[in-house]
Amino acid sequence: SEKDENKEKDKSTISFKDVAGLEEIKEELQETIDFLNNPHKYIKMGAKIPKGILFYGPPGTGKTLLAKAVAGETNSTFLYSSGSEFVEKYVGVGAKRVRTLFERAKKEAPSIIFIDEIDAIGAKRNLDSNNEKDQTLNQLLVEMDGFNTSETVIIVGATNRIDLLDEALLRPGRFDRHIYVGNPNINAREKILEVHTKNKPLDSAVNIKSIAQKTTGLSGAELANIANEAAIIAVRNNKNKIFINDFNQAIERVVAGLEVKNPSIL
Ligand code: ATP
Repeated sequence: SEKDENKEKDKSTISFKDVAGLEEIKEELQETIDFLNNPHKYIKMGAKIPKGILFYGPPGTGKTLLAKAVAGETNSTFLYSSGSEFVEKYVGVGAKRVRTLFERAKKEAPSIIFIDEIDAIGAKRNLDSNNEKDQTLNQLLVEMDGFNTSETVIIVGATNRIDLLDEALLRPGRFDRHIYVGNPNINAREKILEVHTKNKPLDSAVNIKSIAQKTTGLSGAELANIANEAAIIAVRNNKNKIFINDFNQAIERVVAGLEVKNPSIL
């Protein structure tokens, strides 16, 4: 039926093997995964599993990917939203969207609610005002407090600016797990490049380690972009595999793009 199809659409096909170089974080998420896979074990023991996880750190480092992978590892419904979707002119609209999202998550449990750019709704409140943004945030707090232990819904927030968030959001029972997701080091860059070249034909002289050495400071998203650009460049040059030179051009292109966007970073 159409409803089943919609349900399938919200399942994640991403798993931990798609997430490279974030081993400690994956380890930290094992408990959440075990809870979603075997909730009764925890419920019987009277154990409360933290329901809110906050990923923070620079853009493109795998925050969304990690959340999708948790959903994939547990066959949970993945409900993506961005904080900016809740920001509305009319009072009450954002709060209603929050309510609807949580209702849906409970109905389709086990589920992961992912809220990207949570700072858009989670920034510090003006205590004496009752504006739209504050009402939306209040609704989010109410929903997070309203979970009972047996509900298999996990809320994952992501932000580049944890410093902007209202403390109420970070309190126990809400987003009480804060996990920093940073740019990859050389070993992680190598692993990320391996994941993103796995299904691409590479010339035998292509050395992933040396590409990892040349890409200091780049994020996972930028490395994924380099692997894809290299493949496109190889196609454009009518080659049947990707050569070192294609990678070098791809690196130049991606780095040049970054310089245009933000001249101060390199
Ligand atoms: P933003 O803060 O901009 O939302 P993000 O941290 O959520 O960024 P993702 O959307 O998860 O970043 O990453 C974008 C893409 O970059 C992923 O879909 C994936 O292709 C690639 N990527 C990023 N990090 C990794 C990683 N650790 N392993 C494999 N691929 C990665």
